[in-house]
Amino acid sequence: MNETWEQVDGGKTRKAPCSPAGAVCDQSSPPLPLSPSHFQGPGAGKGWVLSAQGITKRYDAGDRKLDVLKGIDLKIRKGEIISIVGPSGVGKSTLLHILGTLDRPTEGEVTLDSTNVFSLSDEELARFRNETVGFVFQFHRLLPEFTALENVMMPRLIGGARAAEARKPARELLERVGLSDRMHNRPSELSGGEQQRVAVARALVNRPMVVFADEPSGNLDAANSRALHELIWDLSRSFGQAFVIVTHNLELARNSDRMIRLADGQIASGTV
Ligand code: ADP
Ligand code: MG
Repeated sequence: MNETWEQVDGGKTRKAPCSPAGAVCDQSSPPLPLSPSHFQGPGAGKGWVLSAQGITKRYDAGDRKLDVLKGIDLKIRKGEIISIVGPSGVGKSTLLHILGTLDRPTEGEVTLDSTNVFSLSDEELARFRNETVGFVFQFHRLLPEFTALENVMMPRLIGGARAAEARKPARELLERVGLSDRMHNRPSELSGGEQQRVAVARALVNRPMVVFADEPSGNLDAANSRALHELIWDLSRSFGQAFVIVTHNLELARNSDRMIRLADGQIASGTV
């Protein structure tokens, strides 16, 4: 793992590795201006926070081609909670990664916050991602050598904030997710449910437009799973962030604003 920036917190200076949580890894360059052409994607100016059109994804494995996504159109409103369901291997994670700009589609466009994202260079996209989207994964992917507070500060620090600036919103979010007294613990000292709440706080710290969660409760028991989903609902309503959640839990999926079922590379049900 690359070591790309130094964190100074509480008098300690340590090298932090690139965040594996989808945040940018290149923090050395100054902010990149986005040209006007980046603001002319298909969903620009029409009230959608995200608009995806004609998304396909083909994996090449030698002479075997796997068409995982075969033309996905999807629009997401500000503050909307969308769940994505479907059998294992159907392409849920692939779709989530493309919508969240972690991966590029074979064909198709994604407009996020009025920006035609795949027209950006990798470097521009990394910066845009850090500012615009958040991620929560099934396994928390917190950095083990840092405390909960430091983990939540991380996306802000990567975005160029000083430690003192990053600490305040990180603290507030940890309080909001019920972890006021666990801020200085490392991930290994937290329960699975607590670790996921830290991961949710980290996903929200840059006030992203959309948070993508890939089976965030897949590793939790029923009670913690329900609590995590309720927390996500609550935060989305409070902060107006859209959430796109891949889940196997149909009961929780039905509680979202919209449930999308993937089958054979396409959206089988759900209003687009
Ligand atoms: P889900 O999240 O619905 O379980 P995935 O999106 O992870 O499904 O995977 C969809 C299909 O794409 C699976 O058959 C998987 O094996 C395949 N796949 C995923 N990533 C890659 C990759 N990097 N290279 C080749 N095949 C992949
Ligand atoms: Mg998956």
